[in-house]
Amino acid sequence: MPYPDYDIGTLSMTKITEHIQRAAGKTLFSFEIIPPLKGVNVQILFDAIEPLMEFRPPFIDVTYHREEVIDKKHVSGLIEKVAVRKRPGTVGICARIMERFRVDAVPHIICGGFTRDETEDMLVDLHYLGIENVLVLRGDPEKSVGIFRPKEGGHAYASDLLKQVTDMNKGILLHEETETFPTDFCIGVAGYPEKHFEASNLASDFKHLKMKVDMGADFIVTQMFFDNQKYIDFVKKCRNEGIHVPIIPGIKPLTTKKQLTGLPRIFHLDMPDDLVKAAEACQTDKDVKQVGIEWCIQQCKELVDFGVPVLHFYTMSKSDPVAAIAKAIF
Ligand SMILES: Cc1cc2nc3c(=O)[nH]c(=O)nc-3n(C[C@H](O)[C@H](O)[C@H](O)COP(=O)(O)OP(=O)(O)OC[C@H]3O[C@@H](n4cnc5c(N)ncnc54)[C@H](O)[C@@H]3O)c2cc1C
Repeated sequence: MPYPDYDIGTLSMTKITEHIQRAAGKTLFSFEIIPPLKGVNVQILFDAIEPLMEFRPPFIDVTYHREEVIDKKHVSGLIEKVAVRKRPGTVGICARIMERFRVDAVPHIICGGFTRDETEDMLVDLHYLGIENVLVLRGDPEKSVGIFRPKEGGHAYASDLLKQVTDMNKGILLHEETETFPTDFCIGVAGYPEKHFEASNLASDFKHLKMKVDMGADFIVTQMFFDNQKYIDFVKKCRNEGIHVPIIPGIKPLTTKKQLTGLPRIFHLDMPDDLVKAAEACQTDKDVKQVGIEWCIQQCKELVDFGVPVLHFYTMSKSDPVAAIAKAIF
């Protein structure tokens, strides 16, 4: 059963695991947003969040984006390579979300582009802001490189970053130990029902996922999937392997025909044949969006019946399809 009567106004600064516990078996609604491109008014983001607040999300995730190296052409004709972070602002947006909407903000923190010291300082900022939850990730590779390379002095895997966060929770900082500064972050990690694209096989991907949970991850958020059986098999395998933390399904409605090839390419997933056929038969993207919404509503109904703790939507900072789906479910 979905959870319709959550009093969000008083619930800020709560751990995700506590939100799930309090819901006592009912399914919660949450979503992920992406910071706007640098230079774009942040109001655009709040306008996208606003229509989703009626479905009472206890938390909102905010993605993190590493800097990209671009070629900057000078008037002299010289080309200089410069590192530009196109979507900065994750921490600031989290603070505004908590203040404005009175819900928990979950910043994603990534290895890519950060040294351990820079990460430590960011964790201190998050702690001072009263942020209790983080999603710990390795991060995407730089687009121009294609393969993940850690920054010198940074982490290579999400598990290394996770260790830094759990150390900090014990009061162990990089260069000192303190009993007066124990943070208490609730830590999420990523899981891949259809396997992470770099893992040599499903077994080794599971081994690494289990390692993250054994090291202290409190919950898992999955990569998007369009076939519920993939998620159900993933959960069953996790339970068989001794992974018992909540597994939050990540959901995205299909909205354009282009995504039929774009999403598999970017996120390494399979689209079910029936969905592909229905979308291909559409004349316009408006029709594809409707097909995607209907598919997603059906997916969500089945997932609620399966007993998922949260339906977590990848909004890509566009609220209307997710609002239509949430209206049908919550
Ligand atoms: C819910 C969710 C949110 C995301 N949010 C963001 C975001 O905000 N910003 C962003 O840049 N990206 C984001 N991503 C993308 C993510 O960063 C990429 O999928 C990345 O390629 C892997 O991240 P990870 O945390 O799963 O990495 P890891 O857990 O480090 O795994 C990466 C690969 O290495 C393998 N591996 C892990 N540990 C070891 C080890 N010790 N030795 C050898 N191999 C190992 C794994 O099997 C896997 O194949 C998100 C993904 C998900 C699912």
